[in-house]
Amino acid sequence: MAFFDDLKKFGKNITEKGKDVIEITKLNSQINTEKEKIKEFYLKIGEEVYKAYAAGQSSAYDETCLQIKEIEDSINVLQEKVLELKNASKCPSCGAEVNKETAFCSKCGAKVN
Ligand SMILES: [Zn+2]
Repeated sequence: MAFFDDLKKFGKNITEKGKDVIEITKLNSQINTEKEKIKEFYLKIGEEVYKAYAAGQSSAYDETCLQIKEIEDSINVLQEKVLELKNASKCPSCGAEVNKETAFCSKCGAKVN
């Protein structure tokens, strides 16, 4: 009978291990959710630091902010190319995309081109 008792115990262990695996998965999922929340706060901190930099405030992160500024500049160049290919430009008043053939912005009515 010892064999069957062992077998029972074995089966029980597998069931409990299965429960543990589910519990571990749940806990890891919770941990990841919490980590994502931290990342969002990091992002917020970074945005605040960059906003301050753009407004002329110096910080320990000026070099990193400068890198962001350079990336923004290259994005602007790329966006200009896209607008050029679409025969469009940006409204100087609201920033909306306007066709180069039109005289007024369809969004805010400002005179363009
Ligand atoms: Zn406009």
